[in-house]
Amino acid sequence: MVAYFSMEIGVDPEVPTYAGGLGVLAGDFVRAAADLGLPLVAITLLHRKGYFRQRLDSTGRQREESAEWSVEAHLEALPARVTVIIDGRPVVVRAWRRRVTGLGGGTVAVYFLDTDIEQNAPDDRALSHFLYGGDAAYRLAQEAVLGIGGVRMLRALGCSHVHRFHLNEGHSALLALELVSERLRAAGRPTAGEDDIDAVRQLCVFTTHTPVPAAHDQFPLDLAARVLGPHPMSELMHRCCYGGALNMTYLALSFSHYVNGVAMRHGEMSGRMFGGHHVDAITNGVHAATWVSEPFRLLFDRRIPGWRADNFSLRYAVSIPTPEIWDAHVAAKLRLLEIVNRHQSPPFDPAALTIGFGRRASTYKRADLLVSDIARLRALARAGGGLQVVYAGKAHPRDEEGKRIIERVFRAREALGSDVPIVYLEDYDMAIARLLTAGADVWLNTPHPPLEAFGTSGMKAALNGVPSLSVPDGWWIEGHVEGVTGWAIGSDGRTLPGETTDPAAHAAALYDALERTVLPLFYRDRDRFTQVMRYAIALNGSFFTAQRMLQEYVVKAYGTEAVREPERVAA
Ligand SMILES: *Cc1c(COP(=O)(O)O)cnc(C)c1O
Repeated sequence: MVAYFSMEIGVDPEVPTYAGGLGVLAGDFVRAAADLGLPLVAITLLHRKGYFRQRLDSTGRQREESAEWSVEAHLEALPARVTVIIDGRPVVVRAWRRRVTGLGGGTVAVYFLDTDIEQNAPDDRALSHFLYGGDAAYRLAQEAVLGIGGVRMLRALGCSHVHRFHLNEGHSALLALELVSERLRAAGRPTAGEDDIDAVRQLCVFTTHTPVPAAHDQFPLDLAARVLGPHPMSELMHRCCYGGALNMTYLALSFSHYVNGVAMRHGEMSGRMFGGHHVDAITNGVHAATWVSEPFRLLFDRRIPGWRADNFSLRYAVSIPTPEIWDAHVAAKLRLLEIVNRHQSPPFDPAALTIGFGRRASTYKRADLLVSDIARLRALARAGGGLQVVYAGKAHPRDEEGKRIIERVFRAREALGSDVPIVYLEDYDMAIARLLTAGADVWLNTPHPPLEAFGTSGMKAALNGVPSLSVPDGWWIEGHVEGVTGWAIGSDGRTLPGETTDPAAHAAALYDALERTVLPLFYRDRDRFTQVMRYAIALNGSFFTAQRMLQEYVVKAYGTEAVREPERVAA
């Protein structure tokens, strides 16, 4: 059996315990595991107050509201209780369960850890309230609940034979120390030796997601000693520390026998960043049945029956007549525009080229690149036949620069008026992502390379026949075939002009692509445009799936032994 640990898991749009790509990916991971009938359980935190609900005023200023949700309505309470010492106090942890059911009726249990229990002190009760809220001490305490509490909870639930612990990002890395402690307790030994470390390494698999060194979780040692208390860690410290701090990535690297990045390029970069550790790559994918819109679901059911059980069969989309693809797309587009036009007057035009841009409003994702030269954008839209844009995305509550990006998009919206109508949909979540990735004509992605580790929204779009126009970074380096599956921003399709980091050059390359390639194809050669849509499904939709990703994890990371285990979880 495999135990998959993730700080956020998007199991359901109604359960707002995810912030963005990492959590939605984890949800897709669990859904695909259930489809494949893998013996896997998942552990996460409850986040009773969610991430947050985004409200935007008329100038685009973001306000955050807590996203309270009814835990009882969505999850099942379990009686098990475990204790973790945090800051010298015993903190009691309980778990809630959600069973995710797959295609063949197989289920994966997701356990949500919760400290909001009467016998805990008020501060400790709040540990399972907010995703990515609070200070470093709050975060480290949450990671102790997830990593240490998670292992203890699994044991309390009867999972004694876990063959692989999968650390989805470093947040859960403390679980490795708990596994060492378990061995010492069982053997009655006070200190850990190389054998213990080797044994734990055989159990752990680590997936890293961030190509930015500063974005890896790290905690000052005095804080770590205070929050975590005395621990066998003291003599393992050199394996957990980097630059004089407890570094969750180094901890995870030291205690995992298999480490992977989430796209080819990201794997290579991570290998260089963590010199001395071999970092493999398993390119992320999305759960096809979750992200295919209703109109395409009907089309695939008719033309490629069995596509849900075997996502690779979507390659046979090559034989679907293009008018059927176009019709399904128009239906998906009208659904999106119905939502858009609730906020928009005059309404968006169903015949106009509609660009979709939805993702977290992080600085490196550069939502404002498209609107960085208003005059040029206006001119090319007028000359090219018309352009409208639907945006969505939340900025982290403390990311002031991210918030300013949203405000810049709102100012551009004012300036462009009806020349290039822009709508910014509030409160991006899985439900809006489903509408937007299926209903746009072109999916835009403009990260600052090489900072996009993967970027799954373009994969969701591809499944719906929506081609990407993207900076070649993350998954697009692998999914891009120029003029076939979409278009790369940049002259030769591999690099930006002269490998420059100048944003103005990146914007110019984007405008060139729109002006010379995308607009003419959309308005004047609809048949070829629809062929690109078809290849987006056949080449990319069929491959960048969570099903293929899970199969790679089984082959490369878990080993078939780990998933052959017939053990059933009693709890
Ligand atoms: C898919 C998804 C993301 C991730 O999109 P990227 O392209 O990886 O940035 C973020 N948020 C939501 C709600 C999503 O559905």
